[in-house]
Amino acid sequence: MRKIAFFGGTFDPPHRGHLTIARAAVERFALDRVLFAPAAVQPVKAEAVQASFVDRYAMVCLATQHDPRFLPSLIDAPRSENGIPQPNYTVETLARLRAWFATQQAEVHLYALMGADSWLSIAAWREPEKLLAQSDWIIAGRPGFALDDVPAALPKPLQGRCAFDNASNQFLLQREDGAPIRIAVMAELNEDVSATALREALAAGAEIGELIPPAVADYIRKRRLYLECK
Ligand code: ATP
Repeated sequence: MRKIAFFGGTFDPPHRGHLTIARAAVERFALDRVLFAPAAVQPVKAEAVQASFVDRYAMVCLATQHDPRFLPSLIDAPRSENGIPQPNYTVETLARLRAWFATQQAEVHLYALMGADSWLSIAAWREPEKLLAQSDWIIAGRPGFALDDVPAALPKPLQGRCAFDNASNQFLLQREDGAPIRIAVMAELNEDVSATALREALAAGAEIGELIPPAVADYIRKRRLYLECK
């Protein structure tokens, strides 16, 4: 059984925080692969995204190139209906991913990886109960986003079904059909970096040091991205 984590986001641009939490997840859960999947249209951030999908995908390719366990993924590429761009909902993305693994007859244990800020908004995502049932979950600590009450972020009806399991050191959320969804927390992670702050720093011409992989920084310069900040 292969262990694969879906890692969605805007990656506008990809930065050290993304790579650090992906590496930590690989090590802690012995993952075979992490799929870095930029979302074409992020439902909650559509207005704030600056670089095009193609540029964000290119940057993800560059950011992941040195680690054989990290793969760029097009699973969240642009989608349209009757020529109208559609938002990328994670509940649908994970379902597509599972369907793809099924067609490959691949036995996969699927995880979804995210930072604490994303987890704290999970109840507002599309069809949260169906979404949560698609995979197990790995949540990384992030400065400024408290993870001391993980079940409190769940939609109200699910909160009573989620409890910490000492034996496995993770939360178990009971599904309607009885099988538990596992929610693991990497609380020790504390990467003080965000794409928003980096875009602001780049627009101001500030030094960004090691916060962006060198190949990504070169690409940003070459494509003249983030010269101004929305
Ligand atoms: P922005 O500042 O534009 O909101 P971001 O830095 O949060 O962007 P995203 O691409 O939106 O970057 O993040 C993708 C995923 O990675 C999200 O689940 C987010 O929580 C997580 N993530 C990003 N940076 C960190 C970090 N420093 N620590 C922990 N998780 C992070």
